[in-house]
Amino acid sequence: MIVATDRRPILQLERRIIERIAAGETIERPASVVKELIENAIDAGARQITVELRGGGTRSIRVSDDGAGIPADELPLAFARHATSKLRDADDLWRIGSLGFRGEALASIGAMGETLLISATDDGGEGAGVLVSNGQIVESFARARARGTTVTVRSLFADVPARLKFMRPARTESAQVNTLVRRYALARPDIRFRLVLDGHQSFASAGDDDLGGTLTEIYGRQIALTLTSLPEIAVGEARISGVISGPQLNRPNRRQIGFFVNGRWATPRNLGEVLETAYRPFFPRGRHPLAAIFIEIPPEQVDVNVHPAKAEVQLLPESEVAAALGEAVRAILARHQGARQSAGFQLAALRGLPGAGGVAEDRAPWDAAEGSGEPNTPTISGTNLPPLRLLGQLRDALLLAEGPDGLYLVDQHRAHERIIYERLLRGLRESGEERAQEPIEPLVLELGPLQAALLDDRLPELAELGIACESFGGRSFLVRAIPALGEHEDLTDALPWLIDELVEDDADWRERLMVNLSCRAALRKGRPLTTAQARALLTDLAETGTPATCPHGSPIILHLDEALLTRQFGW
Ligand code: ADP
Ligand code: MG
Repeated sequence: MIVATDRRPILQLERRIIERIAAGETIERPASVVKELIENAIDAGARQITVELRGGGTRSIRVSDDGAGIPADELPLAFARHATSKLRDADDLWRIGSLGFRGEALASIGAMGETLLISATDDGGEGAGVLVSNGQIVESFARARARGTTVTVRSLFADVPARLKFMRPARTESAQVNTLVRRYALARPDIRFRLVLDGHQSFASAGDDDLGGTLTEIYGRQIALTLTSLPEIAVGEARISGVISGPQLNRPNRRQIGFFVNGRWATPRNLGEVLETAYRPFFPRGRHPLAAIFIEIPPEQVDVNVHPAKAEVQLLPESEVAAALGEAVRAILARHQGARQSAGFQLAALRGLPGAGGVAEDRAPWDAAEGSGEPNTPTISGTNLPPLRLLGQLRDALLLAEGPDGLYLVDQHRAHERIIYERLLRGLRESGEERAQEPIEPLVLELGPLQAALLDDRLPELAELGIACESFGGRSFLVRAIPALGEHEDLTDALPWLIDELVEDDADWRERLMVNLSCRAALRKGRPLTTAQARALLTDLAETGTPATCPHGSPIILHLDEALLTRQFGW
């Protein structure tokens, strides 16, 4: 394995090696530049890496490190294509211990924007710099600096209109870089990373090799505390470790799933799939866990050369590692599940207690209602469902009703989800009015720096949804009230997750928040309902705009119509 700190001079690769190397790095956006520059700094053995961005990276990107530096006479070679100090012959390809090895990144970056590189190999005060424009060195000069390297890229893509056109708003590009820097901070808790966006520090890791502290910096304490560590797993010569979220926390995308192979952020083929499969029984469709999985494995057992941007790697003992990882994750999730089921029993025992108002006018259990003489009358009617006669509740999960054309099975959880979702939507539309709120025991939330900034921006919109949340100094927030939703499941435990959910940097956060709020507040499966509650649920459902589909897009109602019954029974 080539150790990054004991650097060797830069040499031009032989043609046959060049041909063995898959397609070159592509510089698609500011984040790709940052990625390459960070990897170079890590390869140079840096202990501190600072990333500064202006205008989302289109105005300038600067990455400084305190690594080994580049000698003055090698600066021109650093910008030559296929020039690297990290790879000598084809066999090295199988034993890559460094992050970069194609010798193409600086050449590509130099071709995409005006690039200034200043470097010194010791603290003697003598450094050197080059200015590269359109891929050509236009100036070389001496420049004092401490050991390390600073690369500044200005006017990225200024001469590449096609790329510029596809650039997203500065905020989106910055968010991508943020995700990226946090990933490297996770991969290397021993390096102090700093990210500065338009002059403001947005993230800093301690660099003290403490993964727990780094997780807290990245996700905020609330979430970091709920992550569960994997036991150390040994598979042959490979070691797997890491942290994963439990079944109660899920995300709308895979951005929070990180695999690190020998300190490199890269997804080993098929392991992402194995991880997500373990969560499938717990998550609605389209939801993903949060995980940081570290794999230490001898470099010759990893093929890093299967993907042009090195984002995917192939582990040679892939199936063994996959099996061990899947088993460990399932074991942790099963433990959580056990805990959840006992909570469910408590809920059932509580059913006679007064609810928070709303639907629970009649608290007689089903059997009592059966005995009361007229359990099934009158018919429930509403705008968007046929008239229904309630027959009963099945498995504490489904309402059974008879309609003019056969039998209806209604999923109580999804029905309630739909009702709450539309209530929230209506609340939003009736702007100007005082939002109906339900005060709660004030809850303090502690967030990561980027999340805190995003949440701060969104407080007025949260108030519109009926969530009273205020800044509490620093990265703390206080939630004082939630939307009044009628009778619902206890939301307090879920609130940190709901808030966490909305501080993802994408446009549809409000929609996702409403869907999740509905899901968390809705009556769960396993909850016995009184006749009155069940009737109220069906009545409310009949008034919703789309009673047949829940906000996640799953069916709410199964209709066994006359034709089906006739066919099945051969009447
Ligand atoms: P690669 O990383 O694939 O070798 P690059 O084009 O990214 O190719 O860099 C070319 C060479 O320049 C590297 O091999 C390394 O010797 C040198 N280099 C680049 N960035 C740094 C840095 N921050 N510190 C020290 N050396 C660097
Ligand atoms: Mg590189």
